Amino acid sequence: MEEATCEICGRKGIRAVVFVEGAKLAVCGGCAWGKKILYFLEEDAPKGGVAEAPRARPEETEEIVEGFGKKIKNAREHMGLPVSVVAERINEKQSYLERIEREDIEPTFPVAKKLEKELRVKLIEKVSGSIAPTAQASKKFSAQTLGDLLESEKKKRD
Ligand SMILES: [Zn+2]
Repeated sequence: MEEATCEICGRKGIRAVVFVEGAKLAVCGGCAWGKKILYFLEEDAPKGGVAEAPRARPEETEEIVEGFGKKIKNAREHMGLPVSVVAERINEKQSYLERIEREDIEPTFPVAKKLEKELRVKLIEKVSGSIAPTAQASKKFSAQTLGDLLESEKKKRD
């Protein structure tokens, strides 16, 4: 994008469109001061991603562990329990539990929790999301943007 120059002083960096003596002028921040401002122009830097990022995702999510079927089967066999008994204990259908053991399907969290308790295995693990690097990137980004703003404000006053 071509950088526009202020229609009053000729400096680069248009910040606002003002109304002066019946004319609309695109001007820099300094020249906009004290004028009737029609609207401010958007910064080039996108603002959207900065504020919304931190709360978009939970910091930790729970996931069913890999190899859950084998874990369940091993634990169940170790305890010498047939599928039907375990299924009955957790109040689920035997066929459903068999499918879980074959890893045709993942157990739901309530079912996984019941199985964890019943078979004393760990089926749910906490996975931390990529929230930390994202937040850091946002902070860095906004700091740079703020720095740029301050820098350009300083230049105008010189
Ligand atoms: Zn100007």
